[in-house]
Amino acid sequence: MQNITILTAMQGEAEPLLKKLSLTEESRSLKEGLPFRLYKGTFGSSAITLLTSGTDTVHQVDNVATVPAALMTYLAIDHFNPDIIINSGTAGGIGKKGCAIGDVYLSAGTFNFHDRRIPIPGFEEYGLGSYPCYDTSTMAKALNLKTGAVSTGNSLDLLDRDMEIITSNEAIIKDMEAAAIAWVCRLFSVPMFAVKAITDLIDEQTPTEEQFLKNLQESTLKLTSTQLEILRYLEKH
Ligand code: SAH
Repeated sequence: MQNITILTAMQGEAEPLLKKLSLTEESRSLKEGLPFRLYKGTFGSSAITLLTSGTDTVHQVDNVATVPAALMTYLAIDHFNPDIIINSGTAGGIGKKGCAIGDVYLSAGTFNFHDRRIPIPGFEEYGLGSYPCYDTSTMAKALNLKTGAVSTGNSLDLLDRDMEIITSNEAIIKDMEAAAIAWVCRLFSVPMFAVKAITDLIDEQTPTEEQFLKNLQESTLKLTSTQLEILRYLEKH
């Protein structure tokens, strides 16, 4: 039996999958004080654990971005010892590189950061990261999915300098969690990849947040059907 952990930042991104998989929420938190929500269940012969980052107690919005993502990843590894971790969510994509709204991408290559600029020798490379991604090439072919490198930063908006670094990282997908999760997975040698539905094109004039809110629901539905195909695929391989 495979032990699969799915990590999702926003509750709305996870909700359709939670229903499809009939996962049940654990009433007890992993530790008192943690905001993360934990769901468990099975898919075929695989054991599934899904965590969402929960709600910020002060601001009442999802705990998106790298800090909650890293903590959630550590706890998931510590408690559930998964064979593989999947970071599932939405992301921005580069239209000029072939991304379209609603596309679902598998991560490939390496995970990097684009907002950790530390221009001191050694620290510069540390800041950018470069963490391994589980080889998704065969799965992508089998499921007819696009692949691309993911670059992570703590902002939804985009500075020109971010874009330069994303381009030099050869990434085509921009999110706020994947590289943080990949860093923790590297520490513990847990294979990890991301599946990201494109909600907005970062090289388009329309503000990201406008595109994001308009496309979130539809992209999440596409994300959900792809996640089910991925779970079916992983069961067989
Ligand atoms: N305004 C949104 C906030 C979502 S933050 C709301 O109403 O809830 C964006 C989330 O979607 C993050 O978890 C991030 O990983 C992902 N995301 C989608 N598009 C993105 C983009 N262009 N840049 C960075 N992250 C993006």
